[in-house]
Formats: sequence, C-alpha cells, structure tokens
Amino acid sequence: MISKLPKWAADLTEKSDSLMSDMKILDTVYVSPNLKKIRFQGDISRMNFQVGYANVIRVSDREFRNYTASYHNLGEGILDIIFHIHGNGVGSRYINGLKPEDELRISIPRGKKMYDGTIRQQFVFGDETSLGLACSILPILQKNKHQYQFYFELDDENQSVPELLGLENYTVFSKKNTFRNEQWINELPVFNADEWNTANFILTGNAKSVQTFRKTLKNKSKGNISSQGYWLEGKKGL
Ligand SMILES: Cc1cc2nc3c(=O)[nH]c(=O)nc-3n(C[C@H](O)[C@H](O)[C@H](O)COP(=O)(O)OP(=O)(O)OC[C@H]3O[C@@H](n4cnc5c(N)ncnc54)[C@H](O)[C@@H]3O)c2cc1C
Repeated sequence: MISKLPKWAADLTEKSDSLMSDMKILDTVYVSPNLKKIRFQGDISRMNFQVGYANVIRVSDREFRNYTASYHNLGEGILDIIFHIHGNGVGSRYINGLKPEDELRISIPRGKKMYDGTIRQQFVFGDETSLGLACSILPILQKNKHQYQFYFELDDENQSVPELLGLENYTVFSKKNTFRNEQWINELPVFNADEWNTANFILTGNAKSVQTFRKTLKNKSKGNISSQGYWLEGKKGL
C-alpha cells in the first residue's frame, strides 16, 4: 500500500471493510523506553498471517505505515505488534500516544513471504523493527525443527530486549559501524560454518544494513536470500 495518499483517498482506504478491520487496544507495555508492545483485539478471522507480511495502520490524515504482527491468536481475535518509538516520524508519534481502550482500524496483513520451510538452516537478521518478525517466526522454526539463529543490530538500551521477548539463539550487535561495513560482515561466524552456506537468509530492518549484508551474502554464500529494507535514514514511510 502507498504510504501517503490524498486525504479523501486515505478516508476511503480506511473505510474499506475488505482491507481494514476494527480493532480495540487491550493492553500496552513498554518493553524498553523505545519499544512499545500493543495487544489489539478484533475480528481477525479474515487475516492470513505469513512470515514477512505486515499490517498497515493509518497514522495521520494522509499517511499509512507498515507494522508486523509479532503474535496472533485467531480464536481470541488477538494480535500483538512491537513498535519502535524512534521519535522522528508521524507513525512513531501516533503509536506512542495510543492507550488501552483506543479504537482504530488495521489492515489485513500483506507483503513478501520470507519463510521457506524446505530449508533446514534459517538465519534471521534485523533491528528493532524486525523484532515482530523474529517473534512470529520463532514458534514456526521450533515446531518444524529448523536449525536457526538470529542476528540483531540494536540500540544500546535495547540489548536485553531479545531475552525479554523470549527469543533464543540470538546474537546482539551494536549499531555502531558494523552492518554497514562489508569487510566486518565478511568475518562474522555465520560465514565460517559450512552448514550455513545454503541457509535461508531473512534480512529486514535498516535498508542500508540489509543492502550491505545482502551484497556480502551474494558473494560468500549459496543460500536463499529474502530481504526487505523496513526503513531508510531520511526517508519517510518506506
Ligand atoms: C514490511 C514492513 C514491516 C515493518 N514492521 C515494523 C514493526 O513491526 N515495527 C516497527 O516499529 N516498524 C516496522 N516497520 C518499519 C516502519 O514501517 C518504519 O520505521 C516507518 O518508517 C515508521 O514510520 P514513522 O512515521 O514513524 O517514520 P517516517 O515518517 O517513515 O520517517 C521519519 C524519519 O524517521 C526515520 N525512521 C523511520 N523509522 C525509523 C526507525 N525504526 N529508527 C530510526 N529512525 C527511523 C526515517 O529515516 C525518517 O528520517 C516495518 C516496515 C515494513 C516495510
């Protein structure tokens, strides 16, 4: 979905019952000062959740933003989203203001499927905006007995968040000049283990990091790469 529309088109989109569902906020919790997890409840029976898909939320008169369901329960009509409250955007400010009992409309999930169940090794890279994807894929990886590992680049204040979210087999890196540096990426342990050479690589988060990691992987690995930049410095509503 386009992130910015004329107001009349945004109104029509939000009213569309085939695209959007009424949801109510049951609970909000700050996992860290800039990561807010919100539990929504509503009729999600029409929603088809796939790893890599995102739900769209209207965050202003004219703008929509993409967010990933970290957990859903069709029977209870519940879906959780972990929002990065980075403070620079209209979406971040809108989400920061949401509280229990608020009502809003959320789109059906759509996007790019990133999980290929036929590949035994699954590698997931991302940042704060990818934590929802990580939480959504973890039970699938466990159930289907994959060998898996997560690499996260996180702000210093979020280093302990993967543990708080119950993630496993993860390595946390600082954001300081790491995944922007091809030479540094080349030396990561994942490239020194033969069994990971043919893994499914799921890369999301900062667009520059994703691009650099992808480029390195293309040179070094025979694996399958599914990648999508979730945000880019200086760009609104990627
Ligand atoms: C498929 C998909 C799934 C996504 N899932 C999630 C999710 O589950 N949780 C989540 O929090 N985000 C998620 N995102 C990312 C989110 O949509 C973007 O971060 C979006 O730009 C936020 O909108 P905004 O209005 O806050 O900022 P914008 O108005 O888009 O941008 C304003 C400024 O803020 C900067 N900015 C945007 N995002 C960030 C950030 N995360 N950190 C630092 N600076 C930033 C931009 O570079 C720009 O300079 C997802 C994106 C996609 C495409």
